[in-house]
Amino acid sequence: MISQLFPFILENNYFDKFHDECGVFGIYSPYKVDTFSLIQFGLFALQHRGQEACGFSVLRDGFIISHKSEGLVLDFFRKISNSKCYHGNAVIGHTRYSTEGGQSKKNIQPFFGEDSFGKSTISIVHNGNLVNAQKIRKKLESKGINFISEYSDSEVILRLIQKYLPESGNNLEKAIQKTTIDIKGAYSVIVLMDNKMAAFRDPNGIRPLCYGMLNEETYIFSSETCGIDSVGGFYVRDLFPGEIIIVEKKSVQFSLLTEKINTKKRICSFEYIYFSRPDSSIENINVYKIREKSGEKLYEQHPVKADVVIGVPDSGVPASIGYSKASGIPFKPILVKNKYIGRSFILPKQEMREKMVNLKLNPILDEIKGKRIVIIDDSIVRGTTSRRLVYILRKAGAKEIHFRSASPPIIGPCYLGVDTPTKKDLISYNYVDKKSIAKILNVDSLEFLSMDNFIDILGSIHYCFGCFTGIYPVQKN
Ligand code: AMP
Repeated sequence: MISQLFPFILENNYFDKFHDECGVFGIYSPYKVDTFSLIQFGLFALQHRGQEACGFSVLRDGFIISHKSEGLVLDFFRKISNSKCYHGNAVIGHTRYSTEGGQSKKNIQPFFGEDSFGKSTISIVHNGNLVNAQKIRKKLESKGINFISEYSDSEVILRLIQKYLPESGNNLEKAIQKTTIDIKGAYSVIVLMDNKMAAFRDPNGIRPLCYGMLNEETYIFSSETCGIDSVGGFYVRDLFPGEIIIVEKKSVQFSLLTEKINTKKRICSFEYIYFSRPDSSIENINVYKIREKSGEKLYEQHPVKADVVIGVPDSGVPASIGYSKASGIPFKPILVKNKYIGRSFILPKQEMREKMVNLKLNPILDEIKGKRIVIIDDSIVRGTTSRRLVYILRKAGAKEIHFRSASPPIIGPCYLGVDTPTKKDLISYNYVDKKSIAKILNVDSLEFLSMDNFIDILGSIHYCFGCFTGIYPVQKN
């Protein structure tokens, strides 16, 4: 059924590789405010979207001043002593999670453009991934346009906007319109220029981007609603796929990227499964609710008799609460997570990743011995976490282990802004039969949320399900 609903299929090894995950945030006020604290709060709320580097650009007295570095948000901000220098009337910022290919400092955002006197005139932050960035970059470089980053599709967006600005009479909206005719893929972008801020989203609306208000005149743009909450703002709505919003002094202008507008949005369904925070809502649908419902559906799909339900902290917990609700089997938080550890994915080597899972989660032994256990995680990617957990539970004396994944099997990498491994490392790509996977994981039974149930929970097919189906909403060049 799914294949008929999606027009394009991406099948190319060149794109079968790692990409970035990121969070973007911006605030525009007609008056000077404490942009330093606001961006700190906003980026801190979006820390889960990127933990390797962060940065921001402030508009202060007509000047754009940027600061960026590797590290976690709070560590980064703690190192800045002259915080008052970063008070201004607008600010944009970025949290970045780079991957094996691109950990260079040169790739940290925001990217900014300078005039011939070295003064920053424009700055951008981007979440998503372009599928034709390298082609455009080569073309621009052949025309003498210089790039700072090693590989960054975000810088391609910046250089294109800069290229189109002069021929658009320095009109930012027109330059963005022209840019989006060239670029293909997933992009949620915030731009700071002159005395204005623009936010725009690709025509499929693949990565989230919403806006809110701090007061009647102050606009907030954020990857997730939790960013708006963090500064005490109120959510207005998500940007429409293909929408552009420009705020300038006290006026705001809403328009569409007309050439490319697509009425069938394709929001990344994995945002609900794993990536977004449970307290966020995307398109007015609360992420926690989706996760809880997926647990309920998992039980309906494959009931099992057990003594206890446990969730893999943190993203597997809401589904296990849902499973417990539907089954009547008690939920117990008996896998204890060391909160001070980063996501196990961040470590590049498989061997290290396996060790990290052990460090990260510790079971309460007495609660496990002799018990029939249902354990739920949001997803099974390589199978590393699940294998390790089963080992820990078996060692603790579990009588039976029934593993449940609150998402369908992941069979394809993401080309559009979520970091997933190459196909060859995906356990469900390598083993179609779930019995073989159950054997590898050493569990008594294994089930994945079915695609039909997932669509049912989301309430529509207007999502990108690429990692579950191998069918993507954007055609590669
Ligand atoms: P794996 O151990 O490779 O099977 O990965 C599954 C675990 O990784 C689950 O606990 C997920 O919560 C988590 N996970 C899934 N997708 C990602 C991602 N893109 N980045 C980091 N962690 C992820």
